Amino acid sequence: MTTPHYVTCPNCGEKRDASGRYTSPANREHDQRWWAEEHLSGRCVADGARTFTQDRISAALNRAADKVCALAPQDVRLGDAINLVANAALHILEFPDADLEAVVEAKYSEDVDTVLGWVRGGH
Ligand SMILES: [Zn+2]
Repeated sequence: MTTPHYVTCPNCGEKRDASGRYTSPANREHDQRWWAEEHLSGRCVADGARTFTQDRISAALNRAADKVCALAPQDVRLGDAINLVANAALHILEFPDADLEAVVEAKYSEDVDTVLGWVRGGH
């Protein structure tokens, strides 16, 4: 059994399993050629055309949300709002027409009125 062997693009940071364990030798060669042409060449960051995996976008949004929430740790409503923005951005990335109700249904275990009520306040 081949163990995963991850290589990281020095230009964009994208990771790739280079062990070839899920692919045929021909596909592996094709993947290596694509990696060299797309990533090692720097094309992945040329002309401002950068791509990010969903995991990287999610991690960046969550880190940003944590930093902003830390400015006012006592303000629970602000924290709920910031986290809702981060969750909504991730969901809307995949479903551009989604409304907040759809975001809450996809990302929270609580019901829609509860979660939106945290941000609406006034109760
Ligand atoms: Zn790259």
